[in-house]
Amino acid sequence: MTKEKIVEWLKTDDEQVLEGLWRQADQARQLAVGDDVHLRGLLEISNYCVRSCQYCGLRVESTELPRYRMPEHEIMDCVGEAVSYGYGTVVMQAGEDFGLTTDWISHIVRRIKTETDLAVTLSLGERSLDELAQWRAAGADRYLLRFETSNRSLFERIHPSLPGKTSDRIDLLKQIKSLGYETGSGVMIGIPGQTWDDLAEDILLFRELDLDMIGVGPFIAHGGTPLGRPAENNPDQVPNTELMTYKVIALTRLVCPLANIPSTSALATLNLARGRELGLARGANIVMPNLTPKQYRPLYEIYPAKACIDETAAECRACMHGRIRSVNRNVGSGRGDSPNRASGDTGSGPLR
Ligand code: SAM
Repeated sequence: MTKEKIVEWLKTDDEQVLEGLWRQADQARQLAVGDDVHLRGLLEISNYCVRSCQYCGLRVESTELPRYRMPEHEIMDCVGEAVSYGYGTVVMQAGEDFGLTTDWISHIVRRIKTETDLAVTLSLGERSLDELAQWRAAGADRYLLRFETSNRSLFERIHPSLPGKTSDRIDLLKQIKSLGYETGSGVMIGIPGQTWDDLAEDILLFRELDLDMIGVGPFIAHGGTPLGRPAENNPDQVPNTELMTYKVIALTRLVCPLANIPSTSALATLNLARGRELGLARGANIVMPNLTPKQYRPLYEIYPAKACIDETAAECRACMHGRIRSVNRNVGSGRGDSPNRASGDTGSGPLR
C-alpha cells in the first residue's frame, strides 16, 4: 500500500468506504492469525520514571504522584493468578525506572520461566543493550517499545533525550530484534503536531521494521502534562479520536497481516461500552487484561480516566471473556506467539 493510499483512507469519512475497510481488515485478520484472541496479563510493576515525556502522567515532573514499585512476592502472586486464569503471557511494564535493576529483573524473569510455562514480555523503556541481552538470556521472550511517532523532530519535542544519551527508539528496536526478542512497537494517534503524512509513515515503518506486535492507541491529554491542553486547530493535525484509531488498526492489519495487534485500553477509555470489541472486529487479535493489584492501578496514571482501574484481576478476566465471545471469537489458549515471528526470521535463537 502506498503512502498516498494510506492518507486517503485516514482522511475518509465516507461510511460505506469505511465499511469496506473494516471488512477487508477483518478478513485479513482471519486469514493471517485466525479467530483466537490471546490474553496477555498486564502487570504495571513500577510507576517511577526518570523521563520528561510531554504526554505522560508518569513523567518525573509529576511530583504529586505517589510512586510505587511492586515487591517480588506481589509480582509472583499476580503471576500465579495469570496461570490460574489460563493466560499464556505475562507483560511486565513500568516507567523508565532504574530502580528496577538488571539483576533483579533477570531474577524475576528466571523465576517466572522456571516456575511456569508463561511467555514473558518486558516493556521497561530504553534500557542498555547489555541489560536487554541479560534479560533475554534469563528467558524473556518479547520486548515492547513504542517508537511513538516516526517524525524525528516531533519525537524529540515530545520525548526529550536524557542528558548525554540520544533517544533513538527505532535503532533500539532493531537491536532488540537482533537479540532474538519477539519485538513490539507502536504509536499514539493524534499527538499534538502529528500530521496525516506522519501517521502514514508510521504505518509504513511498522512494515519496514518487520514488527511481530503492533500496539496503537489514541493520544489522551493528561491535564498535568505540557501536552495537556487541546491541540491547535490545524487542518494537517490528525484527530485523536476513536474512529481514527480503528482506521489505524485496520490499515496496520492490511500492511502487516501476520502481526499480533491488541485492542488497547486507551481505545476502551474512549468507548468503554464497545471500544475493545470494535477494535477486535476491525483487525485486532489480542487483549491485555490488567493483573495489577487494585491499590496500584490509579497510580499508573499515564492518562486520566483510564478504563478498568477499579476492577479486580478476576473481574477483568470475566469481562474480557464476555467481550471476546460477544464478537464470535474464541479465547485463545497457549502463548499466542506472533505468526510474523514464526514466518521466518531474523532472531538469534529459538524462543523458550
Ligand atoms: N516506560 C515504557 C516506555 O516508555 O516504553 C513503558 C511505559 S509507557 C507509560 C507505555 C506507553 O504509554 C507509551 O509508549 C505511550 O505510547 C503510552 N502513553 C503515555 N502517555 C500517554 C497518553 N497521554 N495517551 C496515550 N498513551 C500514552
